[in-house]
Amino acid sequence: MNNLLDILNKSVNYLEKKKIENSRITAEKIFSEVLDMQRIMLYANFERILLEEEMEKIREKLNSVIQRNSENTDFNVSERENGNDNLKSLIDKSTVYLEKNNISEAKLITEIIFSHVLNVDRMLLFTLYKTEVEKDKLDKIRNYIQKIGKERFPLQYLLNEQEFYGRKFYVNKGVLIPRQDTEVLVEEAIKILKKDKIQNPKILDIGTGSGIIGLTVALEIPDAKVMGTDVSEKALEISEKNKELLNVENIKFFKSDLFENIEYKKFDMIISNPPYISDNEIGVMSEDTLLHEPDEALFAENNGLFFYYEICRNGMDYLQNNGYLLFEISYKQGEIVREILKKAGFRNVNIIKDMQNNDRVIVGQKQIEKNEV
Ligand code: SAM
Ligand code: GLN
Repeated sequence: MNNLLDILNKSVNYLEKKKIENSRITAEKIFSEVLDMQRIMLYANFERILLEEEMEKIREKLNSVIQRNSENTDFNVSERENGNDNLKSLIDKSTVYLEKNNISEAKLITEIIFSHVLNVDRMLLFTLYKTEVEKDKLDKIRNYIQKIGKERFPLQYLLNEQEFYGRKFYVNKGVLIPRQDTEVLVEEAIKILKKDKIQNPKILDIGTGSGIIGLTVALEIPDAKVMGTDVSEKALEISEKNKELLNVENIKFFKSDLFENIEYKKFDMIISNPPYISDNEIGVMSEDTLLHEPDEALFAENNGLFFYYEICRNGMDYLQNNGYLLFEISYKQGEIVREILKKAGFRNVNIIKDMQNNDRVIVGQKQIEKNEV
């Protein structure tokens, strides 16, 4: 039978036999690309008969995944090659391996790993080029390099850190890796708080994840009182850990599904970088994100708009008059989220662009005139 479900299941088995990790998600991603269909829709169309050319494309893609995996397993950085395994040759070998596996910035990633494991500043690695590397450290390096090349494991999860707004944050697979784009959101929040000179501003960060937004605002605006919330227990453990590492006192984290456990109703600012990716964008997402970052930090129903509707609908009740609502948005969502904010009654709605000149942040203000109250 050539129906979608049969072929999908066969493909998963085939990938499993070839020892491809995450075989189901890998196969689903291939199907969703070739058939131009959201991943969840594959199962709703399980009886669809595939065309010969679709099967051919799927076969090609499956084989290229397998091919890439077999190249990966060839890699063994600890093998001696004519006694040449000094640091320089190990770095070169690792870089080539990552390049062969289509990892961008292979040299930089390699150097970061070596410098981390050897505990040497990256810029000074060259001073050790002729030395040999101890076996236990080499094993660690090999494990890291393979995890990145073969499993698409993000570097930040391996090293448990990501820099944000000039500070180092602890991260692991329980939270989204902080993105540089989110600095635009934080910068805008800080700009508004400084401009309005609000005394002891009360700020709510919804979906705090690793805590980057709330913690950065708390550190930059020391007289602020910040609350960070998340539904994920794992995320809350990590944000607490970052609070301790960065020694922040003016923030509290607690569990809440959106506004469920929030009693305070006079915030000066609500900030959120909610999940905003829709299921039909799965085909364009990078494998490292898709395979390793938490789904609940990324995907949102209703075409990625669920959280904007929910937070706008309730946000008004939780803000002081003149309080602000700030969101990170995807580059495609600017106009539609503007409408959502306006319909919910927010005024002075403004979109801010990121470094690539894409829409990235949206701000609205609760402004109720005296005669409207
Ligand atoms: N604020 C972090 C950042 O900017 O890196 C994480 C943002 S991540 C895109 C979205 C976060 O929202 C995740 O930590 C996820 O656990 C959380 N989340 C998902 N659904 C939620 C809900 N119903 N209520 C509160 N938080 C939620
Ligand atoms: N910007 C992130 C990404 O593209 C998604 C973050 C989010 O959904 N808020 O992977």
